[in-house]
Amino acid sequence: MRLDFATLALTSALMSMALAAGLSLAARAQSRPVALREWAGSLWGLSVVALGLAAWQLRLFSGAALPFLANTAMAMSLVLQLWGAQRAAGRTAARRGGYACIAAVGLMTALGGAWPEVLAPGTLLGALLMAALLLTTAAVVWRIALPPGQVAAKVAAICWGVAAALFLGRAVALAATLGEPASASHTMLLPQSLSWLVLGVAMVGGNAANLAVAQGQLEAKLEQTREQVGAVGRMNMVQSQIEAKLERLSRRDELTGALNRRGILMELEACVARVARYQRPAALVCFDIDHFKSINDRFSHAMGDRVLVAVSSHVQAMLRVPDCLGRLGGDEFCILLPETSLAGAITLAERICRALPQAVAQACPEVGEITLSLGVASLEGDDPKVDAWLHAADLALYAAKHEGRNRVVAAAPADLPA
Ligand code: GH3
Ligand code: MG
Repeated sequence: MRLDFATLALTSALMSMALAAGLSLAARAQSRPVALREWAGSLWGLSVVALGLAAWQLRLFSGAALPFLANTAMAMSLVLQLWGAQRAAGRTAARRGGYACIAAVGLMTALGGAWPEVLAPGTLLGALLMAALLLTTAAVVWRIALPPGQVAAKVAAICWGVAAALFLGRAVALAATLGEPASASHTMLLPQSLSWLVLGVAMVGGNAANLAVAQGQLEAKLEQTREQVGAVGRMNMVQSQIEAKLERLSRRDELTGALNRRGILMELEACVARVARYQRPAALVCFDIDHFKSINDRFSHAMGDRVLVAVSSHVQAMLRVPDCLGRLGGDEFCILLPETSLAGAITLAERICRALPQAVAQACPEVGEITLSLGVASLEGDDPKVDAWLHAADLALYAAKHEGRNRVVAAAPADLPA
């Protein structure tokens, strides 16, 4: 089969220009195009070489500078290919080495133009350099990690391997002619032959695979970003869970687990707001352990603590879900009873007053029976306030103490806020 070299060169120029345009557009579409610009540049370089050779064949020009331009453009094209591969692999492009290769090829071709005796060795060295560039590119691309099942990097590496073999073959052929006088075929890195077709196919195939490599890398990055976003989301969730837990803890009394003063005051505020809006009943029971100080004095502070815990847990067990138990401080507690009338609160207070002595005696047999004094106040008035409500329940509690302890006293209407 006879191949018309001009047609071949034109065909490969058109093919590589079409693909170069595709790669350039892909590079423009990305905000940070990694490698695509270098790969597009490589193909534009190859197109220039092929176009130049076609024009030369068609006798459109017959410049002596053609071998120099063609060889240097070829070196530039392959160096750009390597730089692109290195960047795609996340490495820094070997700029200096690349420039040195281009300069070496250009210099050797130029020297060969002046002294024909160095032409063949110079071109031989140039072909070996091109083979080395392509083999390095193949090795770099081969190791690029893509999502599972994507083989683009391997295909591209094989294409570069084929192109490298082409230049190695050329080097061997040149070595065989080293003793002979220089001829026109010695001037070109690749002479006019089938090798151009193979190189064109390898370059177009390799760069098409490059596009798929870039796409695969984008996909991998997207997946990685998705995972990172997921991880951040999970971290945020854990953080808000911890914050919610801390918030709950900051509202609890450490010893008894009941709401602390801050916690119960917040509940009272919320309840008062609800009552003011919906005109529903609510009641408050304040209670205090009788002669608690003597428990500390006769037994120990630790025993006093155990009594506090026992009182708290038994009262808690007697409450309904919306009711809240809070420790106001020392041995004084209060119970918030939403949706409860004064009469209902008195009934509960009486029950607690009767049940607690035995319950605590069971929990702390050494201490025996203890008694409580309880004051009850319902939330009344058009503009109820937490302070006034607490004060009313407190007054009732102190009335219970005053009247002899171990009893329930309800706030008289006069004690209640207006
Ligand atoms: P009253 O019948 O008048 O209430 O007599 P009381 O002895 O209980 O007097 P008061 O309520 O004033 O005494 C509260 C005591 O509670 C005084 C304090 O030493 C003790 N106390 C306060 N906090 C704690 C605590 O966390 N643990 C223990 N064990 N004792 C506490
Ligand atoms: Mg007390």
